[in-house]
Amino acid sequence: MVIITHFRKKCIGCNYCVEIAHQYWRMSKKDGKSVLLGAKEKKGIFTLRTNEAALEANQSAAKACPVNVIQVKEI
Ligand code: SF4
Repeated sequence: MVIITHFRKKCIGCNYCVEIAHQYWRMSKKDGKSVLLGAKEKKGIFTLRTNEAALEANQSAAKACPVNVIQVKEI
């Protein structure tokens, strides 16, 4: 199981996560921030529980994120 967390409030909309892990991320046309597809929101923090296939691309996205608002955990 892989858990991806997006601290969306501080996202600056740089688009890196979308470029690196396009299966999981999209840019919002409404506010210019990225959206973690299928994630559940709680107090502005978005969480997606998914499988191992998501690990590599999202770890790369987390590394590339200039404001460190993506967290990837393997449990
Ligand atoms: S890489 Fe980070 S700052 Fe850039 S759009 Fe994705 S979540 Fe937002």
